[in-house]
Amino acid sequence: MEAVRLHGVGDLRHETVTAPAAPERDEVTLAVSVAGICGSDLHNYRTGAWISRAPSVAGHEFTGSVTALGEGVSHVAIGDRVIVDSRWTCGTCQACRNGVRQVCTNLGFLGEVIDGGFAEQVTLPARNVIKAPAGVADRYLAMAEPLAVALHALNLMDMPKGAEIVVAGCGPIGGLITLLATRAGHPVKILDRDNARTALVAEATRAEVTSFEALSDHYYRHAIDTTGSPM
Ligand SMILES: [Zn+2]
Ligand SMILES: [Zn+2]
Repeated sequence: MEAVRLHGVGDLRHETVTAPAAPERDEVTLAVSVAGICGSDLHNYRTGAWISRAPSVAGHEFTGSVTALGEGVSHVAIGDRVIVDSRWTCGTCQACRNGVRQVCTNLGFLGEVIDGGFAEQVTLPARNVIKAPAGVADRYLAMAEPLAVALHALNLMDMPKGAEIVVAGCGPIGGLITLLATRAGHPVKILDRDNARTALVAEATRAEVTSFEALSDHYYRHAIDTTGSPM
């Protein structure tokens, strides 16, 4: 099958590789339909920050349909389209055994610890997939992970109904936060150094475009920085 594998820093190759092995117990195999490129994929490509094995089929934001089931898998069926949880957890550490896998001592990501979604097929733990709702296009399903990040950030904010929020950065995370916040009835002000991105998010969400200068003489109770940049 065709796959895109990261061999090392700056060394990403489009290759023909053997298809993944048949799923073992509690695993599933997917035919990947759409895979997105995350900011962390770019970071890993440039710095190797999370290369724990190489080569590895990259990609942790993807969707597809189930083509094979390992023993013991019953929550999805062959042919189901699925949403993929990008986290790989060990299942055996104290945190995993206590049911708090999000703080697994050995936490890693699909595409890093095991092969990911930049391939025609992928075999992964069945607990990483849930059945997708009908009628949602694959290109949206592949964005479940960044959408979850945006939702989690907003949930942590716990804003009063109708409270105004400033979102700095109009990349995927800032854009999705803005989309969710405006849909929940919050007035949102957005800013980004990239005018085209700001305009796109404003058009999709009806958020108000602002600037760093315009913000500096007001006090804002709620703000999210999605840039990680001091300027
Ligand atoms: Zn991601
Ligand atoms: Zn664990």
